[in-house]
Order: sequence, then structure tokens, then C-alpha cells
Amino acid sequence: MRMFLSLIKLKRFLLMNELPEFRALGISDELIPALLAKNFQTPSTIQTLAIPLLLSGEKDVIGQALTGTGKTAAFGLPVIQTIQPGKVPQALILAPTRELSIQIADELKSLSGNKPLRIVPLYGGQLITIQMDELKKGVDIAVGTPGRIMDLHRRGRLQLDKLQFAILDEADEMLDMGFIDDIREILSLTNPDKRMLMFSATMPQEIMDIAAEFMRPEYEIAQAGNQSATNTDLTEQYYHEVKREHKLDALMRLIDANTELYAMVFCRTRADVDEVTEKLNAKGYRVEALHGEISQAQRLRVINGFKKRKFPLLIATDVAARGIDVNDLTHVINYSLPQNSDIYIHRIGRTGRAGRHGVAVSFVTPGERRKLKFIEKDIKSEIPQRKLPEISDIIEAKKQLFSENIALLLETGDASEYLNFAEELCTLGSHPAEALAAVLKMHFKNELLPESYQEFGTRQKADESNMKKLLLFAGRANGLTVPDLLREIGDRTGIRSTQLGKIICRADKTFINAEPNDAEKILKAFRDDKQWHFKYDELREKREADKKRKTPDTKPPKKKKVKTHKPLREEFFKWIAESE
Ligand code: ADP
Ligand code: MG
Repeated sequence: MRMFLSLIKLKRFLLMNELPEFRALGISDELIPALLAKNFQTPSTIQTLAIPLLLSGEKDVIGQALTGTGKTAAFGLPVIQTIQPGKVPQALILAPTRELSIQIADELKSLSGNKPLRIVPLYGGQLITIQMDELKKGVDIAVGTPGRIMDLHRRGRLQLDKLQFAILDEADEMLDMGFIDDIREILSLTNPDKRMLMFSATMPQEIMDIAAEFMRPEYEIAQAGNQSATNTDLTEQYYHEVKREHKLDALMRLIDANTELYAMVFCRTRADVDEVTEKLNAKGYRVEALHGEISQAQRLRVINGFKKRKFPLLIATDVAARGIDVNDLTHVINYSLPQNSDIYIHRIGRTGRAGRHGVAVSFVTPGERRKLKFIEKDIKSEIPQRKLPEISDIIEAKKQLFSENIALLLETGDASEYLNFAEELCTLGSHPAEALAAVLKMHFKNELLPESYQEFGTRQKADESNMKKLLLFAGRANGLTVPDLLREIGDRTGIRSTQLGKIICRADKTFINAEPNDAEKILKAFRDDKQWHFKYDELREKREADKKRKTPDTKPPKKKKVKTHKPLREEFFKWIAESE
């Protein structure tokens, strides 16, 4: 019994000495077990700065730190520690999206441990009656999107005039999403003596304007570093110079060369996100898209799937990706350079975390070198240029991964079920390596052969067979050049040269291969132009069709090559015996 008591004492003593850094900030005993359970060892910079301000001061606070640096706990812990379970909301947290509301509420619930606070997420898209029922049971911390918060308040279900804290989380994103009027209206409904907090990944002028409008004048700012250096230490940054039309190829090379990739790819526009996603999917890569036009249900599904690593690549716009709590990426890929260095820092802050090495790769078009220089100057670090992975690198990476996996299987002996079958297969060739080579061929098809990769920068040779052939009765003798032709087609139809197939410019004629749709477009665009008179090249098509029809019976059947094998089998076994 005595031993039992002293064990309890010992435990209490140990607990008292746990997490000294959090305690030094003013975090009370009550919250320590929850922090231990969440395995928070040391406070992040923003937590170190903001927690004491919030626990000991009275002032309003702006907190700025990169995504993934624990802003939720930075305001959440002081709020949880300060308020007591009651009936009416004492803290209101406004967040830009439904899943952020849920994420914040979940984080706060886990941080509050055994303290019986009611924390309720409130957002559009869920039946309002369900949330009204929840609120009836009482609420201490309401977390929600502006629209739904306002709706619930109008229905008399959410009291907003007994607040100790009103918090704008991801404030910059809320502004981007145009919530300013809603925010203004909601804040006007709250009691003026509350503390107002604003947390944000970036601090553009608009945030300072909001602070001037809503906060008491002597507000404080907790800023985690100057947004740059500190957070990029573990992140290797470099860029590839890539022409716009080669970006997709470049991306595929990166994916192929990095077998363990877990990355976000940032594009400038929604259309880019869709295009990249569709094209990669068409090539068999598992990627998903995230942008503003995607339904909430789909968004949640995509984010959760990505967090669980169900697919390794997420293509996103900045706004859609903001606030999403995925930070352990191996790579951040800037498919398009961001508009400014804040966004750059924000993007690449998602990799190189928690002591792990990360890579931030940017695609820079020749015209964007100046923009890159500005970013380098702003973030005070150099971003060197690298060559894109070569085809041989990609093949090497794939072989390496495969070999490692085989070695692992051999170590664990997990492949022993197949040993009998393997022995059987080995007798098929005249050498076991031959059988193995055949197995590899079945597994990899042509994947590890350099010939199956397209040389970078060459026009896609694929699928010319489905293309329509256009004929133009003009050629070099008329002063026509291929670049002129491409420019003219581009100007009139928007079709880029990379979308077209082979072009042959003769003295008096020019042939162009184009996808049927594009061919139709070109015909239409030039229809009434005497100088550029395109028509379908039916003659060539007919000739080719004839050729195809004739091929089978004109060609003699292929003779099967009979290979003669050297008797390697014996030598092989001798080798095994010797090396044993
Ligand atoms: P932000 O709002 O700054 O983007 P979050 O509050 O969403 O970041 O936190 C990102 C992740 O880091 C969460 O999973 C959170 O639980 C975790 N986290 C926060 N603070 C710490 C800490 N001190 N130690 C370890 N993990 C932490
Ligand atoms: Mg956050």
C-alpha cells in the first residue's frame, strides 16, 4: 500500500517536472496531461511568443507564423486555460472553411484533455437543426464559418455578447475569400470588452487594416521570425528552368525520379490545377486536385485521402491549400512561381519540418528569372539552379527501390511461399537469371528501358495515328516557314505547337497532323482565307488506309527466331557453391 502511494507521489512529482518549457510560459498543471498525450515536447516559436501574451496580458493580439507551426495551440491553450465551463459561449473562433472549423475544434478538444469544455464546430453544409440541438446542450467555445455563425445568431441560438475572446483564425485567408463584411457584422454583435485575437500565416496590409478597425489600439504582435530563414533551414531549395510547354514533362520526371514522393504541387489558377491533374491521371499517376470550385464533400475526401497518403501528390491553388494541416511533405513543387515571396515561404513551409529534410523545387520559365531574383532577395537566401533528372536517373531510382524491396523481402523471408514455383521457373531458361529477367519483363514491361522514355523537349510523337492530316497549298516557295505557320495557327485558334503532330513543309505544299478536334478548328479559322487555304489531305489518308489493309497479306509471316543458349546453368550453380 505504501509502495502504491509513493508510486502516485512519484508520478505526480514526475508530472510536475514534465514539459518545463510549456510551464515556463504559464501553462498550468491541468493542461499538461493533454500535451503529453499529444506528444508536444517543446512549444513552437509562435506558441512561445503568444502564450505568455495571452495568459498574462489583457491586450488584443495578432499572431503570425507559417502554416503548420501550431497557431491553433498558440491561442487555444490560453483560451482553454482561461475560460471555465459555463452555458453561453465565452470564445468565438471564426475560420474560413468547414474542414478548418472541424480541424480547429478537434485540436482544441484534444488540448483540453479532461477539462469539461464544450467545443462545437458550426459550419454550412450540415443540417442547421443538428447544430441547433448541439448548441442547446451548451457551448463554451464556438468554432465556425462566418455564414453559419451569423445564421445561428439570427435564429437566436448563439449568444455572442458574453465573449472573453473573439478570434479570427487564418485571417488572411478569410480576407482572400471575401468574408470581410460578414466578419464586420459578427464582430459588431459581440461585447466590446472581449479580447480580440487574429492569427494568420501572412501579414499583408489588409490584416493591419483589419486590426486598426477592430482591435483596441495598443494591440500586440507575436511574429514568429521574419517569415524566412528560420523555417527553411531543413529545406533544400532549387529551381529548374523549364519552358511553359515542358512543365508537365518536367513534373513527370520529378515524380518518376523520386520514388518516395509525398508532395504538393502549386499552380496559379484553377484551370492549371485541372489540366495538370487530368493529364497526370491520364498517364496513370495517382494525383488529386484541390481548388475553390471543388465541392465541400469532395474537398474533405481529398484532404483526408492525402493525409492518409492514399495518393502521393496533391495539385492545388494557394487559396485552396491554405490552412490544411499537412506538413510532412517530402517535396513542395512550385509548378508556377508564386506572385510574391510571402506565398513562396508559405508554400515551402510545408516541407522540411520536424527535423526531416525537405525539398522545394520551383519551375521557372526563362521569362521569370527576374521574378525569381526578387524572391531570392526577399527571403534572403539563394535558390540555385539544378538540372532536371535524366532518364538514366529515373531508371536508376526505380531499380534502386525495387532492389531495396527485394532485399527486405529476402531478409524477412516473406517470399518463401513462392520458393517452389521459383525453382520450377528457373528450369525454364538455361540459366536462372533468364527466368528472373522474364519475370522482370512481365513486371516492368518497358518501364526500365531508356527507349520507352520520351526525350525531354521533343514534341510528343504519340498518337499520330489518330490525327487528321491537313494540307495547305503553300510552302517554302511562297516564303512560308514552320514558325510563321505555327504562330498564325496559334493566333487564330489558340492551339499550341506542342498539341500538333508532325509538320512537313515542302516547296509548294505543307502537311500538318492535328487531333481531329484541332483540325476542325484550324479549318474553320482559315476557311475564308485565300492565302491560307487548308483542306483535309484525303489522298494521304486514303493511301495510308490502303497500305494498312494490304500489310497483313503482303508481308511474309515473321520467322520465329530460335535462340541458342549457352549452357550457363552449370556455371551458375558452381558460382553459388563457391560464394557460399
Ligand atoms: P497552424 O495553424 O499554424 O497551421 P496547427 O495549429 O494546425 O498549425 O498545427 C499543426 C500541427 O502541429 C498539428 O498537428 C498540431 O497538433 C501540431 N503541433 C502544434 N504545436 C505543437 C508542438 N508544440 N509540438 C508538436 N506538435 C505540435
Ligand atoms: Mg491554423
